[in-house]
Amino acid sequence: MNYDAALDQAIGQLHEEGRYRTFIDIERRKDHYPQAVWNRPDGTQAEITVWCGNDYLGMGQHPIVLNAMHEALDSTGAGSGGTRNISGTTVYHKQLEAELADLHGKEAALVFSSAYTANDATLSTLPKLFPGLIIYSDSLNHASMIEGIRRNGGAKRIFRHNDLAHLRELLEADDPAAPKLIAFESIYSMDGDFAPIKEICDLADEFNALTYLDEVHAVGMYGPRGGGVAERDGLMDRIDMFNGTLGKAFGVFGGYIAGTAKMMDAVRSYAPGFIFTTSLPPAVAAGAAASIRYLKGVGGQKLRNAQQLHARILKMRLKGLGMPIIDHGSHIVPVVIGDPKHTKALSDMLLGDFGIYVQPINYPTVPRGTERLRFTPSPVHDAKQIDHLVRGMDALWSRCALSRAEISA
Ligand SMILES: *Cc1c(COP(=O)(O)O)cnc(C)c1O
Repeated sequence: MNYDAALDQAIGQLHEEGRYRTFIDIERRKDHYPQAVWNRPDGTQAEITVWCGNDYLGMGQHPIVLNAMHEALDSTGAGSGGTRNISGTTVYHKQLEAELADLHGKEAALVFSSAYTANDATLSTLPKLFPGLIIYSDSLNHASMIEGIRRNGGAKRIFRHNDLAHLRELLEADDPAAPKLIAFESIYSMDGDFAPIKEICDLADEFNALTYLDEVHAVGMYGPRGGGVAERDGLMDRIDMFNGTLGKAFGVFGGYIAGTAKMMDAVRSYAPGFIFTTSLPPAVAAGAAASIRYLKGVGGQKLRNAQQLHARILKMRLKGLGMPIIDHGSHIVPVVIGDPKHTKALSDMLLGDFGIYVQPINYPTVPRGTERLRFTPSPVHDAKQIDHLVRGMDALWSRCALSRAEISA
C-alpha cells in the first residue's frame, strides 16, 4: 500500500468535485458578534460579518452566560477532573440536567460532550436495552443519528423525509410485537423545514413505538420557554426522548437527552459514549445552565421574536430580488445555487468583496445539485448588516448572471 498516494487520491477527488473544505480562520469579537476578524491566508486581517453561525441568538456573548462561566471557573478551576462516574459529577452538572429536564417537561436529562455524542451514544445503546429494537429513521436525519443507528447492530428502516405514508407502510410491514423507535428532527437545518411531529406521534401510538426527537435547531428558539417546536405545538408529553445541543442557540457547548428518570438511568448505565469520557468542564455546564434559564424568560422571548423578525425580513428581501429561497417559516434562510463550484465562488466573493462570511454547503451535507448558501440571521444582526448582505447578494447575482427565477420549496 502506498499510503501517501491513497491520501492524495482521496483529497484530490474532493478538489475535483469542488467540495474540498477550507476552514475560514475567524476571531469572534465579544460584544460585537456577528462582527469578527478574518485572518486571511496571506497573514492580513479584515473585518467581516458572520452570516452562517449557529450561535443563533448571540448567547455566546451574553453577560449572564459569561458571568456564570467566570464564577464557576474562579471557584472550581478548569476541567471536571473525571468521568461522571469517577469524580466528575459536580453540582453544576446536576443543576444543568435539572434545568434541561424542566425545559422539556421531563423527569430527567443526561448531559453528553455534544449533541453528536448524545445521538450516537443513545441510539447505538438502545438495542441493548430493548432487544430486537427496530429504528425508523427519517432519510434526512443528521449524521450523528445515522452513525448511532448504523453501528448499533439492530434493525433499521429509513422512511422518506417527512413521508407519513411511507413511515406507516414500514411500520405495518414489521412484527407488531417488535419494539420500535421513530427517530426524527423537529427542524431540518439545511432546508429549515419542520417535521409533522403530531402525526408521527399518532403513528407511534398506533404501533406502540417510542419517539426520539432531535430538537437541536429548535431549543432556545421555539416555544414560550425555548423548549423547542414540541413545546410550541403542545406536544412535549408525546415525545419519549428529546435530544438537544448546548452549542447552538444556548451559545456554549455540549449536548443532552431528556426523558423519564428510568430511561435516563438505563442510558447512563449502558452507553459507552456517556460512561467512558470526561464530563463537561464545570464552567461550561454553568454557562449552559444560565443560558437555558435566561431563554426561558421574557428576555429570551424578546430574542426569539427578533430572530424570527430578522429571518422574515431577510427572506422577503431576497425573494423580492427573485432569488431561490427555501422558506418553511423557520429561522433558517437557504439560497439554493445548485452547483458546488458556483456556490464556492459566490461565497468567496461575498467574503472578499463585501466582508460577508457565509460558508458554502455542499454534498454530502445536502444532496448534489442543491448546493447552497445558508444564512442564519440572529437578533444581533442589525438592519444595516441585513441591508449590506442584501445589496451584496444583489450585486453578485448580477455580476454572475445568475437566474432570478423563483423555485418553490
Ligand atoms: C449540529 C447538530 C447536532 C450535533 O450537535 P453538537 O452539539 O454540535 O454536536 C445534532 N443534530 C443536529 C440535527 C445538528 O444539526
